[in-house]
Amino acid sequence: MKNLKKLAVIVLSGIMLMCGCTGKNKAVNREVSTGNSVITEKPTELTVFYPSSKEDDGQWKIFEEAGKMTNVYAKTTISKSNTDFSQAFNLMLASGNMPDIVVTYDPVTLSEYGADGAFVKLNEYIDKYAPNIKKFLDENPEIKRRITSYDKNIYYIPHIPGGSVSTGWFVREDWLKKLNMSVPTNVDELYTVLKAFKNNDPNENGKADEIPYFSNTSKVDCLYPLWGARPDWYVKDGKVKYGPYETEYKTAIQNISNWYAEGLIDAEIYTRGNNAREKLFSENVGGITHDWFGSTAAFNTSLSGKVQNFKIKAFAPPSGVELESRPISSPCGWAISSSCKNIETAVKYFDFWFSKEGSRLMNFGVEGVHYDLVDDKPVFKKELLNQSDFKKQLTSFGVQMDIGFVQDFEYEKQWINESAVEGMKLYEEGNFVEEQFPMISMEYSSDEMKEYSNLQTQIDTYVSEMEQKWILGANDVNSTYDGYIQKLEKFGINRLIELQQKAYDRYASK
Ligand code: CA
Repeated sequence: MKNLKKLAVIVLSGIMLMCGCTGKNKAVNREVSTGNSVITEKPTELTVFYPSSKEDDGQWKIFEEAGKMTNVYAKTTISKSNTDFSQAFNLMLASGNMPDIVVTYDPVTLSEYGADGAFVKLNEYIDKYAPNIKKFLDENPEIKRRITSYDKNIYYIPHIPGGSVSTGWFVREDWLKKLNMSVPTNVDELYTVLKAFKNNDPNENGKADEIPYFSNTSKVDCLYPLWGARPDWYVKDGKVKYGPYETEYKTAIQNISNWYAEGLIDAEIYTRGNNAREKLFSENVGGITHDWFGSTAAFNTSLSGKVQNFKIKAFAPPSGVELESRPISSPCGWAISSSCKNIETAVKYFDFWFSKEGSRLMNFGVEGVHYDLVDDKPVFKKELLNQSDFKKQLTSFGVQMDIGFVQDFEYEKQWINESAVEGMKLYEEGNFVEEQFPMISMEYSSDEMKEYSNLQTQIDTYVSEMEQKWILGANDVNSTYDGYIQKLEKFGINRLIELQQKAYDRYASK
């Protein structure tokens, strides 16, 4: 969540391949209507700015396929030498040579330029020329609220992620069995299991080399709820709160730092980086982690036969609360530049990707090539699914691009393994995911945004510094905590909360 906010508020460093990480996915209505897809009588070309770090020339075949169906051909321009989105975006703006359509990862900046006239206000065009998008937004007012800028205009059509849950807790099931233990169901039991992993040699090599809890994120964020704390912004009874300024935070910090001192948390948690899972699972030393369902459960497949008895299993959050979920709308999507000569066609083209035909094309590729229809449902071809570069084949064709469309969760369900599906089901049915703090940066005026960014950057930096010092044992929690609170106040935490509350109230009243 913190990442998304920083991303939306300050600058984007690097292109995001997967967008978004906030917002509870509340029953998004995914109905798409069908109709004649042809948009223009004569073939029409639209230029599209698509910043990409992907290693290709940007001429994805999917746009050709869409052209055959609509008679509108998207011609992408990508900046290959430049993988920093905000830099590429600014260069494109400064060039004075705006393409018809602009793919964005930063709706806040886009809205600011939109208000200055660089992008088309889409509201009326949607009503007139985009029946599928209109239907979708009418049926999903929460999404409409999220993409509407503070000046009440819509400047971009977002990518709508599929599925609801994203991450969860995983434990080495074979280790539990070896130690004759069951899956932890509360914080005390989690502690007991971590302790046993540390001391009782579940990997049976005679060494105390097990790393009970580890993370791919270089963070301890998902441990906070174990003691009722939150690592970031949240809302309680309409009041905006900053987790690290609340009293529960102290309890959590104290406990996490104790667990660290007892060797229950990876000694290199802050530095191991995003290869931790791969490394610690394949070396047969990692016990418990919290991560994405699909990619984590995939180790059951990839390490089968390589690490003896390796079996991980998702388990319910010991605190009963899961903070991460899939966003109901993501910060990526696309907009129409004011230099577009044919706005009507561009809007209709946007609408195509929300139609049944466009949606199938973007989610599953081409019928007969990538999938077959079974009971009117696209099912990926077996021979394609069985190939190790299955996903790469799809993405290099252009399936699942970061444009405005509704992602069908079936796309993912068909290639993740059974233990991932089981884990997601557990979390969905348990209803553990907490209502997410909404992306309210669109509610800020640009002056407020400047003030907000300065305060937030300073405070975030200080909070992370202190967190590390406490958890790594460099600072004693009890004797330094009051000083920390005073410093937050000196930095202006109360003003920051006030700004956030104002933006949240605007959002809530929309
Ligand atoms: Ca061992």
